[in-house]
Amino acid sequence: MTSLLIDGIGSLVTNDPALGSGPLGVVPDAALVVEDGRVTWAGPRSRVPQGAARERFDAAGRAVLPGFVDSHAHLVFAGDRAAEFAARMAGRPYSAGGIRTTVEATRAASDDTLRAGVRRLVAEALCSGTTTVECKSGYGLTVPDEARCLRVAGEHTEEVTFLGAHVVPPEYAGRPDDYVDLVCGPMLDACAPHARWIDVFCDRGAFDGDQTRAILAAGRERGLVPRVHAGQLQAGPGVAVAVELGAASADHLTHLTAADVDALASGGTVATLLPGAEFSTRSPYPDARRLLDAGATVALAADCNPGSSYTTSMPFCIALAVREMRMTPDEAVWAATMGGARALRRTDVGRLSPGARADVVLLDAPSHVHLAYRPGVPLVAAVWRAGVPAAGAEPPSR
Ligand SMILES: [Zn+2]
Repeated sequence: MTSLLIDGIGSLVTNDPALGSGPLGVVPDAALVVEDGRVTWAGPRSRVPQGAARERFDAAGRAVLPGFVDSHAHLVFAGDRAAEFAARMAGRPYSAGGIRTTVEATRAASDDTLRAGVRRLVAEALCSGTTTVECKSGYGLTVPDEARCLRVAGEHTEEVTFLGAHVVPPEYAGRPDDYVDLVCGPMLDACAPHARWIDVFCDRGAFDGDQTRAILAAGRERGLVPRVHAGQLQAGPGVAVAVELGAASADHLTHLTAADVDALASGGTVATLLPGAEFSTRSPYPDARRLLDAGATVALAADCNPGSSYTTSMPFCIALAVREMRMTPDEAVWAATMGGARALRRTDVGRLSPGARADVVLLDAPSHVHLAYRPGVPLVAAVWRAGVPAAGAEPPSR
């Protein structure tokens, strides 16, 4: 049995209010015991239980928190849209149509090219503390291309989402319902075995409420659990459909009605905010305070994609959430860890309390507040995934 004691933690975020102060369950002067990839003990270092011979890592007074759970990412793609970004920054607005540029490049790419791209982005995310990442298809938009994108995603994460309904591809221009039939039939038949989730981009220029409902219902019949892109470009039926169908999360939520806020606060659907998208499209940020004050469960995710949010950095999203969306540092860190876990319906990640997978982030800072207080600074000194050193300058790999 492998056993690790992380000792000398200046401030430990457990996300278990029974173990420490506040919703983050913060324990000062703490220690953490990991056995066989799981947390077996977390608490004040003065009370570390005696145990088997352990490897010891001294955090030297720095902060430790759970690995980030990024519940919304589009990592399987080819091509580059830097020119589109530059044009947008020069004044051209974002529309869903830009997705088609990536679709063309993705269809033309080999499996190995797609695989190398996902591997690079997952490694990049890990270096900034992301230990669980969801990954969607959505740039293939043919039966074989969607299926291979999901297979590639599944080589890197267990949280795989079928997003055949990202946009209507150009060959179906003018007959979107024919494309919806393809998605609900042959495409789902080929894709459902490779995915856990099904997602629809329900917005202007993508899919309407009836189409979204039909696609998600077809996915549910094949055992997939819904999630929805809702309210990025304008308020619409996305949130209502998500809550009605028991979606795990509704994502973006930049434009919400009062009824949407009520539905998210009273239903079981997590409100996932993606401030990297507003940053990169120079759009107004979602009203996080309204959602939090109404009692909704809020998650933060990076929405890494080549068009509207080409970042894998959860610390960057935390800083945006605090500065631009008026979330407190505690709320933002919770949303990026436990909130993401809720959005993925996971109970084994997003926390550092007994039984959790030992996904541990060491910050080169005395507390988690520094993630927002020191924006843009690479504070992640080390990452363990399931108790194994996975990234960072320390600890030395065993
Ligand atoms: Zn997205």
